[in-house]
Amino acid sequence: MEVEACAVCMQPANQRCSGCHVIYYCSRDHQKSDWKLHRGKCVPFKVCENALLGRHLVATRDIKEGVVVLKELPLVAGPPQITPPVCLGCYRTLDLFGSRECVTCGWPLCSDKCGESQAHKPECHITSTRRGAKVSVKTFHQPHPTYQCLLVLRCLYQRDSNPDVWKKLQNLESHCEERRKTPRYEEDRVAVAQFVRRFFNLQDFSEEQILRVCGIVQSFTSSGGLIIRTAEPILKGQHLSICYSDALWGTANRRHHLSETKFFWCTCERCADPTELGTFFSAIRCKNR
Ligand SMILES: [Zn+2]
Ligand SMILES: [Zn+2]
Ligand SMILES: [Zn+2]
Ligand SMILES: [Zn+2]
Ligand SMILES: [Zn+2]
Repeated sequence: MEVEACAVCMQPANQRCSGCHVIYYCSRDHQKSDWKLHRGKCVPFKVCENALLGRHLVATRDIKEGVVVLKELPLVAGPPQITPPVCLGCYRTLDLFGSRECVTCGWPLCSDKCGESQAHKPECHITSTRRGAKVSVKTFHQPHPTYQCLLVLRCLYQRDSNPDVWKKLQNLESHCEERRKTPRYEEDRVAVAQFVRRFFNLQDFSEEQILRVCGIVQSFTSSGGLIIRTAEPILKGQHLSICYSDALWGTANRRHHLSETKFFWCTCERCADPTELGTFFSAIRCKNR
């Protein structure tokens, strides 16, 4: 058997962390001294990768049901790509009379207070320093094209203001190779990548770089925090999964949706079973019986 090294002193170690079963220590003292650092990383799963699933989580020990396995805040949050004008501090829907322009950048807001919020800082900063002119939004209550780039803009802002977040964003799945063949990719190139570079004078980001970010924010919705709790017991080595589609869709619809948006052909127990676990969910009912 391979001898593990202590996470603190790198000496041979045989005491495994009972939380994650991933990290080893030579002694109780070294485990104790490392806990402050390790605590944030001590999770019951590890990230694995294969051709079918791409990156996914695999349990590193048995997990009981009802356990919180993951709790995370979003790296970046913003309005959806297709949206009527909303306040960029609190995301309330705006109309002409209920909104005011941000004094610094011109984006409409519900109040001056929202103009000073942390959430609004990225586009406020980029608009005033790079574009050099205010944004003007005059139509409300219908999807507004300028908002298409907002979440992407908030991601790009991280490169200079928060390199740690930028690095983490870059590590997320963008599906760029698969997306390259889709009409959506070309739409994003024109409506987001080319638009951002021209409108906000951000030529120091390449079209490709911006399109990568487009892919990343489409793969992951970013509303509020994320808490994942186990719905049933999971055995060590099993992969942790969540439902990307709707449990009340038939197999054909679920598989189609997953292959269009997540670029994989689902082979889970239900998808692989023509009877859908004996429910005959997608079956046609014969009228004469
Ligand atoms: Zn040690
Ligand atoms: Zn641990
Ligand atoms: Zn607001
Ligand atoms: Zn502003
Ligand atoms: Zn499935």
